[in-house]
Amino acid sequence: MTTLEFKDVVKDYTLRNGLRTSTLRAVDHVSFELAPGRTTALVGQSGSGKSTIAKMLMQLERPTSGQILVDGEPIQRRGAGLRRYRKAVQMVFQDPFASLNPYHTVGHHLARPVTLHHPELSKAQVRERVLELLRRVRLDPAEDYADRKPHELSGGQRQRIAIARALAPEPGILVADEPVSMLDVSIRLGVLNLLATLQREEDLGVLYITHDLATARHFSDDIMVLYRGVVVERGPADDVILNP
Ligand code: ADP
Ligand code: ADP
Repeated sequence: MTTLEFKDVVKDYTLRNGLRTSTLRAVDHVSFELAPGRTTALVGQSGSGKSTIAKMLMQLERPTSGQILVDGEPIQRRGAGLRRYRKAVQMVFQDPFASLNPYHTVGHHLARPVTLHHPELSKAQVRERVLELLRRVRLDPAEDYADRKPHELSGGQRQRIAIARALAPEPGILVADEPVSMLDVSIRLGVLNLLATLQREEDLGVLYITHDLATARHFSDDIMVLYRGVVVERGPADDVILNP
């Protein structure tokens, strides 16, 4: 079980225009906490700061001020602390194809994080874990999917593989950044239902980043609405109304 907290986080980008520089505040004093067994949605239109928050969670950007805490401790950027963070906090992205190597089988994609986090496992044990991950994301028969390559899967199935790979290190927190916006409308609900089921069954804390208030309402416990970097509204999913 893991908690993750943003505490008064600010992110400024420096913009250079010839000799002049200016500052753009992309994230403006944002605070929130992700708790086990809850889905929190971060909703905002394009340019509101969602990706900047995701980038800070991936440690691709650092906050200008404020803190990101995991289980109450400031996150670490190197060594054992970074490895613990990468295990505890996993991400799923918009485009599953971009993060899968077209020449590797599904089994290979899932075996890598399993062996990385459990070097003690035998080949047969790794294979059993891989099959179990496939069953957890409801890809059955698992043996069949393990031998396929990404182009032999549908978009929804590829996203399920990306989710299975994120689950491999047994994280406490799953960050899903627009996980269905590139998928066919007809299969979006299936993937979102899977995320909701995993959150419940595995006591995950989920951050669901989206521009779509309707699915955020349906699939989240709490909603934060981000506008120009500021959380302008937050509350239980049923109470939040997006002011246009
Ligand atoms: P969203 O993901 O909600 O579309 P972003 O976090 O991408 O929002 O962007 C928030 C603001 O920060 C926007 O005004 C954007 O132009 C700006 N921004 C994002 N990344 C950078 C960057 N690397 N350098 C400068 N400005 C950036
Ligand atoms: P690839 O052909 O995609 O490079 P490899 O055959 O080299 O994959 O397998 C690398 C590792 O991935 C194997 O040691 C095994 O643990 C795992 N692996 C590969 N295919 C499967 C599979 N079908 N089911 C389970 N694990 C697999």
